[in-house]
Amino acid sequence: MTRILIVEDDLSIRNALRRGLTERGEAVAVAGDGMSGLSLALQEDPDIVLLDLGLPDIDGLRVLSMLRGVSDVPVIVITAQDDDRTTIKALDAGADDYVVKPFGTEQVAARIRAVLRRAPRAGTEDDILQLGGLTINSRTREVSCDGEPLVLTRKEFDLLFLLASRAGDVVTKREMLAEVWQQPFGGADRTVDVHLSWLSLIHI
Ligand code: CA
Repeated sequence: MTRILIVEDDLSIRNALRRGLTERGEAVAVAGDGMSGLSLALQEDPDIVLLDLGLPDIDGLRVLSMLRGVSDVPVIVITAQDDDRTTIKALDAGADDYVVKPFGTEQVAARIRAVLRRAPRAGTEDDILQLGGLTINSRTREVSCDGEPLVLTRKEFDLLFLLASRAGDVVTKREMLAEVWQQPFGGADRTVDVHLSWLSLIHI
């Protein structure tokens, strides 16, 4: 379960995100303006913040820089369609990624997972994923199977980590393309087949 804070003044976007992410089993807190967003971010210590840049009280960019002064929490900014300059400013100010309105929950959920995979976390136990004989360290990107280290390419690691972290769930090819290859709209799905067949060779 990921603890997500949504800071967004648009009620319909906020509610749709909250509903979609809650349905996926995430714990969601919401704020409708910058000040309450900031105080919730400090109070709730979320795993990730979704931050709208156009907020009624404080500009989202200021919220971001104030937050960065006190916290390394990963931040995905929510931007308007035609505002490249603000998006660039937000990334320069420490945002980890962005989504452009309008967006679906599926895309936001994929970006959250991608950002959290990259984010260094303080606790080491959180970095280790154990699945049968398979041990995956998401921080050092080391993998071993029954104690034997495995050498994987970057994409193989990302794919294995995605599948292992959602063991028991159905992971669609589209999700694999979105998360591992950053192709949310599908595309060269033969790539997925090839990587999956390589991974199947390690007998997990
Ligand atoms: Ca707004």
